[in-house]
Amino acid sequence: MTDFRIGYGFDLHRLKKGRKLILGGVEISFGMGLDGHSDADALLHAITDALLGALALGDIGKHFPDTDPKYKGADSVVLLKDAYQLILDKGYKLSNVDATIVAEQPKMNPHIPKMQEIIAESLSIGADRVSIKATTSERIGAMGRQEGISATAVVLVVSG
Ligand code: MG
Repeated sequence: MTDFRIGYGFDLHRLKKGRKLILGGVEISFGMGLDGHSDADALLHAITDALLGALALGDIGKHFPDTDPKYKGADSVVLLKDAYQLILDKGYKLSNVDATIVAEQPKMNPHIPKMQEIIAESLSIGADRVSIKATTSERIGAMGRQEGISATAVVLVVSG
């Protein structure tokens, strides 16, 4: 019998001057970037956590600890692929992903097609199964003050 599992992920990183802004595997010219041990790609981290969550495999910090020098400056595309391999090893595959980036600036829309392409290729699915949306925080709260950028993601994985 086919088993369907849903997974949810959330991530947030602080914006900092002097860092590259990388979201969905795309480097975006902005003058500030997300701070973190890895490349701090909040979108890919949210999707990675959603994949792990779908099969109750813990979270990204468990599999790729930020205390491990191996992951310093890590390319989050590699973390995403490694997490997805765990899903495949369990006999499941990804059906689709739906994610939202919350950022006051910069404009995400011009970069979304490239993000979709990178994520789809990393997960060996069609780009039409990768939904990336973006919203501002209406200048309210931490995201609205541009203190950080956050992302949420849900995934559906299917057995067989
Ligand atoms: Mg993160």
